[in-house]
Amino acid sequence: MALTGIEIYKKLPKKNCGECDVPTCLAFAMNLAAGKAELSACPYVSEEVKQELAVASAPPILPVSIGEGDNALKIGGETVMFRHEKTFFNPTGIALLIADTMEEAEIDKRISSFNELQYERVGLTLCANLIAVKETSQDAAKFANLIKKVKEKTDASLILMSNNPDIMSAGLEVSKDNKPLIYAAKKDNVEAFAGLAKENSCPLGVYGENIGELIEITNKLMEMGLKELVLDSGARTIHKALEDQIVTRRAALFKKFRPLGFPTITFPCEMTDDFMEETMIAGTLIAKYAGIIVLSRLAGESLFPLLLERLNIYTDPQRPMASKEGIYEINSPDENSQILVTTNFSLTYFIVSGEIESSRLPAWLLVQDAEGLSVLTAWAADKFVAQTIAPFVKKSGIMDKVKHRKLIIPGYVAQISGELEEELADWEIIIGPREASHIPAFLKTQKA
Ligand code: SF4
Repeated sequence: MALTGIEIYKKLPKKNCGECDVPTCLAFAMNLAAGKAELSACPYVSEEVKQELAVASAPPILPVSIGEGDNALKIGGETVMFRHEKTFFNPTGIALLIADTMEEAEIDKRISSFNELQYERVGLTLCANLIAVKETSQDAAKFANLIKKVKEKTDASLILMSNNPDIMSAGLEVSKDNKPLIYAAKKDNVEAFAGLAKENSCPLGVYGENIGELIEITNKLMEMGLKELVLDSGARTIHKALEDQIVTRRAALFKKFRPLGFPTITFPCEMTDDFMEETMIAGTLIAKYAGIIVLSRLAGESLFPLLLERLNIYTDPQRPMASKEGIYEINSPDENSQILVTTNFSLTYFIVSGEIESSRLPAWLLVQDAEGLSVLTAWAADKFVAQTIAPFVKKSGIMDKVKHRKLIIPGYVAQISGELEEELADWEIIIGPREASHIPAFLKTQKA
């Protein structure tokens, strides 16, 4: 059972020194209980209390890390059924399957697709995270060579898939420094796979034919001291997989049922031969509550929507998505190009920049930080008004890039034009259209 903030507070040093980035131990305890802080932020907690709190304050679904360094993937650590209750924390890992019996050309094609299918969105790079290297050859050397190749050619975190402990051991020999996910401990090989996971300090996948068998195996592994587990309930139809995901999440959250308190791995690639159907299954499982989905291949038309879905589900619903404040160059602008200003609400930015781009006219788009609010909301909250826009324009550096002084503001805030002209004395303020879709036609009528 997770501890409350007050219970955690009782165990803290009570120095109120602020070194943990909040002013008091009580505030830190509250953050810790809410999962917003890490215990390691307080340098004064004794080892004994650390152990005690680590267990007691652990989230109902334990977090698991796969991989090392910047590209390590963290899954699990979730605390709610629905994202509107709080937020989902660790996005579903998207994995590409590569088997060691595939033709070299096919392997190369898959590796290229993993490296190439990356998308910029709201200042983030969206891409798949993992490669699941599957042994189907029964040849340890072949399996190890494929792992080496994937390691050399990508920065993917790895899932190693084999039923044979000796072959898995050969795979780990060449990849243990990457902390791969070992998939999977099954009823008949629990000891051997648990040994490999312990020896190599790697997370371990657990496969059960059904939830009951999964619980049995997970209990055994926990008794053996394994803490980083990823669960596969054996479901290979969308109906059963969805049901198992929900049962698992509910058992972990509402019953604090520790054997199911781990992130999950699912295999849309094994649920259908139809690629579009596979994509829809993957989309369903991203929404409900897969820690990892393994796909048979990557293609832009399926990966991109899945990445966007994941991005949307795993953003904090209490914080609007925001673009970075700054100057955005569209269609190669020069010193004579027009200047538009808007807020940093991501959707606003994407729509406005898209419309400017489609006009094929060069322009500078100034995006002012308005805490991620849209134009009208930001204006109503005094975050996109003459007193915020003028200083932003002055410090943005746009004056060094153009030789004119004309600024187009959104039609929705036409009422601030007079005040803005006072704040930006040598500028001409032009009222743009209210709707972004009218921007291309409007720009054609303007001369900088
Ligand atoms: Fe309290 Fe530790 Fe934070 Fe200092 S660093 S305020 S002792 S919790």
